Amino acid sequence: MTEPVVARFAPSPTGFLHIGGARTALFNWLYARGRGGKMLLRIEDTDRERSTEPAIAAILDGLTWLGIDWDGDTVYQFSRSARHREIAEQLLAAGKAYRCYASPEELTEMREAARREGRSKLYDGRWRDRDPGQAPPGVKPVIRLKAPANGETAVEDKVQGRVVWQNGNLDDFVLLRSDGTPTYMLAVVVDDHDMNVTHVIRGDDHLNNAARQTQIYNALGWRVPAMAHIPLIHGPDGSKLSKRHGALGVDAYRAMGYLPSAMRNYLVRLGWAHGDQETFTTEEMIAAFDLPAIGRSPARFDFAKLESLNGQYMRATADADLIAELERVLPFIAGGNQLAAKMTPALRETLLAAMPGLKERAKSLVELFDSARFLWAERPLALDDNAKALLTPQAHLLIGELIPKFEANNSWSAASTEADVRAFVERSGLKLGTVAQPLRAALTGRTTSPPIFDVLAVLGKDESLARLRDQAG
Ligand code: GLU
Repeated sequence: MTEPVVARFAPSPTGFLHIGGARTALFNWLYARGRGGKMLLRIEDTDRERSTEPAIAAILDGLTWLGIDWDGDTVYQFSRSARHREIAEQLLAAGKAYRCYASPEELTEMREAARREGRSKLYDGRWRDRDPGQAPPGVKPVIRLKAPANGETAVEDKVQGRVVWQNGNLDDFVLLRSDGTPTYMLAVVVDDHDMNVTHVIRGDDHLNNAARQTQIYNALGWRVPAMAHIPLIHGPDGSKLSKRHGALGVDAYRAMGYLPSAMRNYLVRLGWAHGDQETFTTEEMIAAFDLPAIGRSPARFDFAKLESLNGQYMRATADADLIAELERVLPFIAGGNQLAAKMTPALRETLLAAMPGLKERAKSLVELFDSARFLWAERPLALDDNAKALLTPQAHLLIGELIPKFEANNSWSAASTEADVRAFVERSGLKLGTVAQPLRAALTGRTTSPPIFDVLAVLGKDESLARLRDQAG
């Protein structure tokens, strides 16, 4: 029987959950879920200066919004420092690590010398074999790994292939600082081991760390988990991802009105492919996702593609579900709280009736919200500049003439109001647009909206007539 997969997402809460982190989380989640395995979450909050509570909250919230869940309790790395210390001491006792008393000045000197001579090894190992009896008094040492001096360290990476480092180029790095706090390198290894992690899937900015972590695993006689280092996400022009190109927190995507389902689909295709399939249900993603199909070159972030995918998902989402999604994001979009405060079962019904016309046009929930505003707008309607320009004195008169026709309509619907308007234009020899546009302006305050007869039907006879009377000449 093969061992169950245990994957994990291990963000540092020094900033919000950005798009690259969200993709890493998704890949781990898909990998675990597709194999009946476990997905763990570990908050790497050992950097006490830079880790913040709001960042932790944003990470948990962002994952939840994306529909990425995890098994068991969230592990907070800082709470495990005693265990990290214990392992450092254990390595020390086994002769696999040593105390180093080099002063900050000595370290700076060594670094500068290394730079001058073009060596990657920054620490020269001066305390490696020195008698601790020579320790300068009153100096608190760090603990360094006694890394192998010769040979090589190799990582069999599931994405990058076999990657090899010459041990001569890697120095004896610090495991425990002089204040007794563990370094990231030690903490990650101890936690992954203790959490029984079998697969480490993360950004390839951690590839060099993988070599050092492998040395720690080896020193401890622990098995190295499978590794997969994913190329980072780049901007559309191939450069490092900038804010303008989408290097934003997941919360920004929610506020822009993207659906979590579309976001998942967009993210899974950033660096992973399954033939030429572009759209995946979550179940399909879980079934198809695998590590060998992750590309070795950086994926490029493309807003236009995300937007068009989102539009596709919106059109495919059932009307009632879309309203639920809209209500979910109201607190995060400009003006959304006003609607949230007004939402009644009746307004929800109206929204539901209007949804087929609205969702055809909207590529995001924000656009949907915006184009639906007329539904809950209060009379007299605020008109935008285009609508104002359309409502000429002549248009006011036309509206005035139409009102009695509508008043006489006792079977209010898109079809019957259309019949009224068509009869009216035929008799007066006008073009349909000449009447429809002022109607639209009077009913919605704008010059674009869902089809005008749908607007009349959704608003209902009383509200439609009241809005028209506001604009009648
Ligand atoms: N905490 C690290 C980061 O946020 C990730 C460590 C890991 O996945 O091993 O970049």
